Amino acid sequence: MSEAQARHSVFDGVSAAARAFVERDHQLFIGGEWVAARGGETLSVYEPASGECMCEVPAGQGGDVDRAVNAAREAFEGGEWSRARPVERERLLLRLADAIEANADELAEIESLDQGKSVGMARNLDLTMAVDFVRYMAGWATKIDGRTVEPSVPYLPDQQFTGWTRKEPVGVVGAIVPWNFPILMAVWKVVPAIATGCTVVLKPAEETPLSALRLAELAASVGLPAGVFNVVTGDGPGAGAALSGHPGIDKVAFTGSTEVGKLIGKAAMDNMTRVSLELGGKSPVIVLDDMDPQAAAAGAAQAIFLNHGQVCTAGSRLYVPNREYDAVVEGLAGIAGGMRLGSGRDPEAQMGPLVSKAQQERVAAYIDSGRQQGARVAAGGGCPDRGFFVEPTILADANHQMRVVREEIFGPVLTVMPYQDLDEVARLANDTPYGLGASIWSNDLARVHRLIPKIRAGTVWVNCHNVLDPALPLGGFKQSGIGRELGREVVDLYTETKTVLMSI
Ligand code: ADP
Repeated sequence: MSEAQARHSVFDGVSAAARAFVERDHQLFIGGEWVAARGGETLSVYEPASGECMCEVPAGQGGDVDRAVNAAREAFEGGEWSRARPVERERLLLRLADAIEANADELAEIESLDQGKSVGMARNLDLTMAVDFVRYMAGWATKIDGRTVEPSVPYLPDQQFTGWTRKEPVGVVGAIVPWNFPILMAVWKVVPAIATGCTVVLKPAEETPLSALRLAELAASVGLPAGVFNVVTGDGPGAGAALSGHPGIDKVAFTGSTEVGKLIGKAAMDNMTRVSLELGGKSPVIVLDDMDPQAAAAGAAQAIFLNHGQVCTAGSRLYVPNREYDAVVEGLAGIAGGMRLGSGRDPEAQMGPLVSKAQQERVAAYIDSGRQQGARVAAGGGCPDRGFFVEPTILADANHQMRVVREEIFGPVLTVMPYQDLDEVARLANDTPYGLGASIWSNDLARVHRLIPKIRAGTVWVNCHNVLDPALPLGGFKQSGIGRELGREVVDLYTETKTVLMSI
C-alpha cells in the first residue's frame, strides 16, 4: 500500500474537523500561547488500527517544562487567577463542560484515531464521563470549606482562643497521565486543580497526546486565564521526569504503571512535593455458585474486554466455583471467539487494536508466558498481521505461580481459575501486590456482605465491574496507589489544610 493510500484509509469516514486538527502543526501550550519546543524534536503519533504515522507533536524537554512551570507559578501567585472567586471558577468550568460537550463528536474521533478505541465508545463513555465530571467538579468550587473549632489549650487556662481551618489550593500541579482514556484522565486531574484554584502543567502520554492539546484550546476559548492550564507533550523519561522532579511544583498527580509511579513518588519525596498515584491493578472477578454460568461469562467478558483490556481496574483474574467452572470457561470462549476485531471507525467491530506496537508485543509475550507455564488457551492467543491488534484471549486452568496471574498485562487477556469455598476465594483474590478493584457476582446478599470487607481493594463492585461515577471515590489499596480521585475525596488531593488559631 502506498503512503497516500494508507493515509487515506486512516482518515476514512472521519470528519474534516477532526482530520484538520490531527494534521495541524502541533505545539506546546504554555502561558496561554502555542509555542514550539525549544529543542525542536518531535514524537510521531500513530493510528493503532493501521500502524500508520498520522502526525508529529513536540517532544518537550526540561527547558520546556521549566517554562510551563514558571507560567503556572506566575498565574497561581499573581494576576487574575489568584483573585478569582469560587463562583468564577465554577462558571468557567461549566463553560468548559459545555465546550467539551459541543465538540464531543470531534473529540471522540480524535481519541479513536489516537488511541484505537471505537468512536462510539469514546463518545458514549469517555466524553460523556468527562463532561459529567467537569460539571460535578464545577459544583465543588463553591463548596470547599473548613471547620470552626473551640480550642481548650489546657496549659493556658487564663487565655481565650478561637480556631478554624481553611482549605487552600495546593499550588502548581504537575499532572502526568496515561494513554488508555487520554482526555478523561486529563480532565480527572486538570479540573479538580482548576476547581480548587490551583494551576496545572499537564503531560499527556506520548502515545496519545492529541486530545489534551484540543482540551487546552477549548479551555482557552472559554476564558481560562493564561498560565492556569499548560500542556507539554513529550515522553516519560524526558518531559515526564522533568515535571515530576521539578522543584517548582507543589503537587504531582499521576496515573500509570506501578513501576513508573514508584519512580515519581521517590522523585516527589526529594522536594516533599504532594503526590497522588493511581497505579496498576490485577482485579479479581469472583463468581459465587448461585450465578447462572452464562450470565457469569457475559459479566466477566465485560469486566476484561472493556477498552480492549487497557483499563487499570480490568477484571483480569476470574474465580469460578469448581462446579460451574467448565460451563463458564466454555461460555467465555464462545464470547471471546465470536468478537470481531476492527478499526475504531468500523461500526461492526467489537474490539479495536491496542494503543501501540510496544503494547501489542508486551501482551503477546504475556500470552506466550502463560502458555509456557501451563495455561490452556481456550480462545484467542494470536495477533493479526496489520495494526496493533491482539485477539481476545481466555487463559483457562491458570494458577498463582503464573506471571499472567501475578502481573498486570493491560490487554484483552483473562486468566480463569476454579475455587472451592469463600475463604479460599478471598485468600486468592487478595494474593496480589495490587488492590484497585474487584467484583463479586451473586444475588446471595449474606455471602456478598461477608465477602466485601475481606477484599483488599479500593472499589468492590457487585454484579457489575468498571462502573464509575463522579461522586464515588476511586483509588487503590496496596501497590495500586495513594489517594482517591473523584468524589468529595478529590478536593483533599488538591488542597492544603491551614489551621488558624486566634487569641481573643
Ligand atoms: P503505561 O504502562 O500505561 O504506558 P506508564 O506508567 O509507562 O504507563 O506511563 C504513564 C505516563 O507516565 C505517561 O505519560 C508517560 O510518559 C509517563 N512516564 C513514563 N516514565 C516516566 C518517568 N520516568 N517519569 C515521569 N513520567 C513518566
